[in-house]
Amino acid sequence: MNVYDSARMADVLTPLGYALTDQAEGAHMVILNTCHIRENASEKVFSELGRLRLLKQSREKSGEQMILAVAGCVAQAAGEEILNRAPYVDMVFGPQAYHRLPEMLAKAGRAMEAVLDTDFPPESKFDHLPETAPGTANVKHGAAFLTVQEGCDKFCAFCVVPYTRGGEHSRPAAAVTAEARRLAAAGALEITLLGQNVNCYHGESPNGGEWGLGRLIAALAEIDGLERIRYTTSYPAGMSEDLIAAHGDVPQLMPFLHLPAQSGSDKVLAAMNRRHGADDYRRLAGKLRQARPDLALSSDFITGFPGETDADFQSTLRLVEDVGFVQAYSFKFSARPGTPAATLDDRVPEAVKEERLAVLQELLKAQQTAFNVSCEGRVMPVLLDRPGRRSGQLVGRSPYMQPVHVDAGGFQLGAIANLRIETGFPNSLAGSAANMQNERACA
Ligand code: SAH
Repeated sequence: MNVYDSARMADVLTPLGYALTDQAEGAHMVILNTCHIRENASEKVFSELGRLRLLKQSREKSGEQMILAVAGCVAQAAGEEILNRAPYVDMVFGPQAYHRLPEMLAKAGRAMEAVLDTDFPPESKFDHLPETAPGTANVKHGAAFLTVQEGCDKFCAFCVVPYTRGGEHSRPAAAVTAEARRLAAAGALEITLLGQNVNCYHGESPNGGEWGLGRLIAALAEIDGLERIRYTTSYPAGMSEDLIAAHGDVPQLMPFLHLPAQSGSDKVLAAMNRRHGADDYRRLAGKLRQARPDLALSSDFITGFPGETDADFQSTLRLVEDVGFVQAYSFKFSARPGTPAATLDDRVPEAVKEERLAVLQELLKAQQTAFNVSCEGRVMPVLLDRPGRRSGQLVGRSPYMQPVHVDAGGFQLGAIANLRIETGFPNSLAGSAANMQNERACA
């Protein structure tokens, strides 16, 4: 979502004469768009600011200005601390306030002190952002992000999101479909719908009622030129029958779902305030696969939540095996300021958290590798969305989000190509041109 937000900030700044650059050196303004989800991410901000300070000072020495801004969830959660620790920062603003960038810039130009804008505005930023224009930073080689839902009311005990992104808010369906049409017209073949709990989407429908995500996806599937739809990230207890059915009914919806489980232990899940048990998750995975038999699932896991025993951790490993995740992100529990879990007793020692994380990652890696190897010999439509590291190579995404490498000859960046999967590696696939007369596409 920060990638999406950054592109929308560029949309706001373009009419003021700014243009995007990927180099901080020489820029008139640098915005760090930050993440607060774990401590590591937050701490990075301060080391990065130290580096940018030198750049700002050297520009000022040569009589030029460089505005330094901190945006995003670290700004929201620790705005005052940023200004205390890094007084050379000019602007600090939260994830719901960036539509006010023009006013902030005017104020920063006038004021002798830094601008801090971390109040949650009463209005929705989406009602005040300029339309994504053709050439938007949001469409990159055929792929685009589109935020449909933001914030969270679920209050998982470990998570800062309700405090940094604010309460759950869904954009009206008409605004979403209009933005999707503009993205498709600007070249997007694939759109990933975004939200902190995107499957809990409940936006105003065009006739004044309400649509869930399944209905919204059906409407988006009508858009000419839009060939692939994905959504991320989801809350298991928010998976509706409608949305499950969409996985069977809407061919553009890709057969891959990121559905964070966090743990396989009912006791830990309850302590996390997750509102689903391990068997609920197993049943949900079964239903999804009934709707779409080739659906691949990925997940998030936290090891070492306070009170997690070895037996609890074994339950997590069992869930990973039972569901057969083909990919997952896993993290050590990180105590976040202001969350209930940060003050829980019964902390798991750092070494145990790490050991469990290593065991979990080993299992996940084995499952991921087995899945990648099982793809050998299949033909898959791959959206080639970036140049490869080696020259003459392109990289794309399979329907299952696996990166696929191919020799570029005859292929076009930003297009969907049918590739024959030659080799499955632990983290990627190698493909080659498929002879479509002899082979059948699998997805
Ligand atoms: N809203 C979704 C997914 C959130 S995505 C859900 O509730 O399932 C953010 C991911 O970051 C989470 O899935 C979780 O695994 C991880 N995360 C959040 N807070 C964390 C913390 N305090 N320590 C470690 N990981 C955390």
